[in-house]
Amino acid sequence: MSEPESPSNGKKLTLTAKILIGMALGILLGIVLNLMGNEGAIRTWGSDGVLHVVGTLFLRSLQLMVVPLVFVSLVCGTAAMEDVRKLGRVGGKIMGLYLVTTTVAITLAIGIALMVKPGSGLTFEMEEEFQAPNAPPITDVLMQIIPRNPIDALAEGNMLQIIVFAMLFGLVLTMSGEAGKTILKLFEALNEVVMRLVLLIIQLAPYGVFALLARTFADEGFSAILPLGKYFLTVAFILVLHAVLTYSVFLKFIGNINPLQFFKKVRTAQIFAFTTSSSNATIPVTLETVEEELGVDNSISSFTVPLGATINMDGTAIMQGVATIFIAQTMTTDLSITQMLTVILMATLASIGTAGVPSAGLIMLTAILTQVGLPVVAIPILLGIDRLLDMLRTSVNITGDAAMTCIVGKSEGKMDETIFTRRRR
Ligand code: ASP
Repeated sequence: MSEPESPSNGKKLTLTAKILIGMALGILLGIVLNLMGNEGAIRTWGSDGVLHVVGTLFLRSLQLMVVPLVFVSLVCGTAAMEDVRKLGRVGGKIMGLYLVTTTVAITLAIGIALMVKPGSGLTFEMEEEFQAPNAPPITDVLMQIIPRNPIDALAEGNMLQIIVFAMLFGLVLTMSGEAGKTILKLFEALNEVVMRLVLLIIQLAPYGVFALLARTFADEGFSAILPLGKYFLTVAFILVLHAVLTYSVFLKFIGNINPLQFFKKVRTAQIFAFTTSSSNATIPVTLETVEEELGVDNSISSFTVPLGATINMDGTAIMQGVATIFIAQTMTTDLSITQMLTVILMATLASIGTAGVPSAGLIMLTAILTQVGLPVVAIPILLGIDRLLDMLRTSVNITGDAAMTCIVGKSEGKMDETIFTRRRR
């Protein structure tokens, strides 16, 4: 696939630079609107008017591509695997990496939160009428992994079911002789076409990102952060630490991959995740970035990226770890070692059942709190600032997906160094 326009003489802005400018201007405008009160005509025509419409159109055009892209690209990816054993090996490696990094993330979160004590000295009024949403039990997630009806799975966008169906379909294509080859050709052509659509939408990102961020910041502002400043900063600090330190160590020492180059190239996908707060909606961009910028072959990324967006959520686990300790501290309860281990185990498992959509992590937090006997009515305290943290943690979530995909890609000899080292778009 040809590259999108790139600067030839350094005078033209790169797409990433344009997106960054859109992001900065959006945040700035949002803050200004918020300081102006975000009411009356400003709200009707601005944040709830033009910005809302443009932002939503952009978000929906991303979401529109997720299901077709994951399905088509994964069918092609599976069919390109040389044998079933290789599929098992790649699956084992990626699952192992996802689980280990999530465990590191939550352990870091609990360790640092215990030292920093973000909740000590704070007490809150709890809203007794808060209805905690129910998190699905892990057994349900496992049993439902096979779709009863693939069309249902596609229509509902059930990612794990789509992954299973696409892989089965891709696998039997390779066993079906001429008929399989004909269908595979069709899927390969479809894959090219859908990827072209992704590139088109990415070109619109500077405007979409601007509108989405302006609206979010107009609505949120920073005032809600103040009373929970220590909690906010603790989560944000651990998120950055994990993204920079843990992933660099994994990339360098397990993957033998240059972390600096990785971070330079992964930025576009991070910005999309930050803007949309949804790993799921970011899948098209993560896939495009991992393949066209980081050089990982589609046969690996088509499987690891959608899987990661669905089950690998290090950023979410970090928030859950700090939130649990925070809530315990505001109630002057000390968690026992067993309870902390429970939090680690639950948060790692919970991320499997958490959908990659905004605020999903908070829903799973209820399961963790219940398990260690803390009141779920404490969750509304965190709601006010969760939107901003969600943006940060979603960026970390997809960074983890991309980093682990590179490690597996490289270990399988499916990473193109020329693409990885060439200039960013
Ligand atoms: N918004 C996150 C994601 O899509 C999930 C969460 O932590 O709420 O990855």
